Amino acid sequence: MPAFVYKSDPVRGQQWARLFAERAPDIEFRQWPDTGDPADVRYMAAWTPPPRLHEVFPNLEILFTTGAGIDHLDLSAIPDSVPLVRMIDPAFAEGMAQYVLHAVLDVHRDCFDYAEQQARGVWLPRPIRSASQVRVGVLGMGNLAKASLHRLVQLGYACAAWSRSAHRMEGVECFAGAQAMRAFLARTEVLVCLLPLTDDTRGLLGEELLSQLPRGASLVQVARGAHLDHGALMRLLASGHLSSARLDVTDPEPLPAGHPLWRHPRVRITPHIATAARPEVAVDAVLENIRRHHDGQPMHGLVDRKRGY
Ligand code: NDP
Repeated sequence: MPAFVYKSDPVRGQQWARLFAERAPDIEFRQWPDTGDPADVRYMAAWTPPPRLHEVFPNLEILFTTGAGIDHLDLSAIPDSVPLVRMIDPAFAEGMAQYVLHAVLDVHRDCFDYAEQQARGVWLPRPIRSASQVRVGVLGMGNLAKASLHRLVQLGYACAAWSRSAHRMEGVECFAGAQAMRAFLARTEVLVCLLPLTDDTRGLLGEELLSQLPRGASLVQVARGAHLDHGALMRLLASGHLSSARLDVTDPEPLPAGHPLWRHPRVRITPHIATAARPEVAVDAVLENIRRHHDGQPMHGLVDRKRGY
């Protein structure tokens, strides 16, 4: 019988084991480090695969990552012959959409200002803008960005997105490529980052890019900490060029104790919780991909190693 090895959070692994027993009795589920005979292992799901993967599991057919990003992986240690598949599932994307919506609403409904007012005991209503007056711009047009944009469009926000290749989505002004960045930023007052971390995007959220946003803009950073230059963020908040930031990811995670961003009144930090894969949905997504692999169909979430995402 082919075997599936799980190497990630052990508590979740127990849930995966129960789900595999119910939904895929023809695949033997094993949890790292109890991998049994390595020759049986055809599939693996891991946050970090073991070094010398091909020597450890010579018959491995598919490597699944248990997250949506692959920036933590050393691609050179994963044989080219083994397809790498990242986590794509609708519930995962919906979790991200909820987080982004909440962050945008915080800005739209002046929650940072009211928190400051409350701290000073001030009762001062502010005018309410309609959602259509709030210009949200999303960096990235992938699985998570599209789900977030879908919800933002439903609520009536003025939405735009920027990506590498051209996309179309109803209710979203789509920008593509480096030459379109300036125009995208100029019309964006809430910038949401949902890019993968690659050589091209590392450090992208620096002073040069952020200062092209209109004065008073806000940042929602939900992708990877290393996209953002924390020093640039602090300077732009201090000058008032940026009015607030929401950070679900930082570099390092967590920020060191005493880092000024922890206590900044215009910054909200959450511990990388924007979304997480639920075992029941993740297992279905993995089993569907195993089926597609055997039927010769393209798998959902197959990583293009040249692009790096
Ligand atoms: P996808 O791979 O589906 O989408 C990536 C998007 O980014 C694509 O639209 C792609 O453009 C665009 N892109 C990539 N590189 C560039 C570039 N150099 N210039 C312009 N656009 C670029 O990713 P997901 O939506 O699934 O996930 C996005 C990221 O979200 C993950 O990589 C991860 O970092 C982060 N994440 C955060 C979580 C959290 O809890 N905070 C949880 C899960 C993920 P194109 O369409 O043209 O290819």
